[in-house]
Amino acid sequence: MTISRRQLLQRIGAAAAVGAATPFTAGARVAAAPRRPARIRLSRNENPYAPSPDALAAIRRGEPSAISLYPDVEYESLRLKLAAAHRVSAERVVLGAGSSDVLRMIVDACLAPGKQLVTAAPTCDVIGRSAARARARVVRVPLARDWSHDLRAMRARCEAGAGLVYVCNPNNPTGSLTRRRDIEAFVKALPRGVRVVIDEAYHHYVGRGTDYASFLDHPVDDERIIVVRTFSKAYGLAGIRVGYAVADRAIAERIADGVEAGVASVAALAAAAALDDQAHLAAVVRRVTDDRQEFYNQANARMLPVIDSHANFVMLNTLRRAADIVGHFERNGVALPSPFAPLDQYIRVSLGTPEDMDEFWRVWDLMSLAHTV
Ligand code: PLP
Repeated sequence: MTISRRQLLQRIGAAAAVGAATPFTAGARVAAAPRRPARIRLSRNENPYAPSPDALAAIRRGEPSAISLYPDVEYESLRLKLAAAHRVSAERVVLGAGSSDVLRMIVDACLAPGKQLVTAAPTCDVIGRSAARARARVVRVPLARDWSHDLRAMRARCEAGAGLVYVCNPNNPTGSLTRRRDIEAFVKALPRGVRVVIDEAYHHYVGRGTDYASFLDHPVDDERIIVVRTFSKAYGLAGIRVGYAVADRAIAERIADGVEAGVASVAALAAAAALDDQAHLAAVVRRVTDDRQEFYNQANARMLPVIDSHANFVMLNTLRRAADIVGHFERNGVALPSPFAPLDQYIRVSLGTPEDMDEFWRVWDLMSLAHTV
């Protein structure tokens, strides 16, 4: 659906009628604003739609033995299922309490004080924070002009003996892709001993006809590549914390040394059920793809540029100071993440339900109101 400028003006008129909402004030101090819990959360790239009914049923069933015993059996059976799905041996799969936990284990296995993590900027900083805690040096290389990873510059920053390179594809927060053939050429040219983490958290949202290909679905024979996935995004299971890595067997064993809490049995059962329900996953992806198109339509009607996204969030160029916009939304009950330096005019908007997004644009239009009245 496209929205005409006339419809937009009508909407802005409707927004004017909502007296309870707080209008935009440029430069408003977020800290001084009255705080209330956000009603709508568009800040964490969660899936606003329910997970697979089979996953929910697995949680509700909660067999007594899956509750009172440590989760070895459930861990192993999810590991086997993932190994079969990705056509690798089970020894190559390591599970964790969300991919954040897996990234932490990878850092523990591959980095040490003085070693180096080369990563993009901006990108998902979960691994960067873990690396900093491990007292590794974190080298952040700005994205290229087309928002892909600047692999040439990243290669130039990799020292021999460096520990890790992190490539988030699609990238969070930009939603942009880095071409598969470029990543392959990059990996080939890296000094020996440098491992590459490819974070495919948003893999399921990438449409056809792009230069993207997953390193799990289309593996290359290179023991330095570690692929990370999560059940928190398209599978809609962020609350139960399941993620995993697929790595070369020897490195997978080292990563697995870092398993602490592991994965709760009920979480493993739910993830296994979600994995079996590929029809539900496809339906979620279709809905999110439609939601993303509708977001573009709305942004376009307001002449706001976006970064082309291959994920369940969109970077919107607000053409103003993003920190002010985030404050405006917060005061009106919509949570957005803080701006991502150096993109200080952009806000990252996680795609919510159509109703959430109607509210997002209504709150957005309050700003036009404040400027035109
Ligand atoms: N990797 C990326 C690219 C992310 O965006 C996130 C969270 O938003 C994570 C990893 C961590 O997700 P989780 O720990 O829920 O699996």
